[in-house]
Amino acid sequence: MRYKYRGIVKCKICGREFEPWSGNQVCCSKECAKENNRRSVRARALALKDENKDSQKQAEPSAKKPSIAEIERMANAAGKTYGKYVLEHGL
Ligand SMILES: [Zn+2]
Repeated sequence: MRYKYRGIVKCKICGREFEPWSGNQVCCSKECAKENNRRSVRARALALKDENKDSQKQAEPSAKKPSIAEIERMANAAGKTYGKYVLEHGL
């Protein structure tokens, strides 16, 4: 049996005690799981915002690969074809 019994745990959202029936379950019900997901999405969005702030401070151009549209624009600006620009810059 792969299932590891963890005993009774407290729901992360409503605090009700329940027996988890799947490995990493932290919520007692689908409703609480939905709420938990909603919260973690928001937390992740906030964390991302912080990351962006940090990367702006450090300004590391190699960390982020430009999109095809951005490469095309840069290639046009440099008077080169997309393929040539990509080759020359190792993108
Ligand atoms: Zn709950």
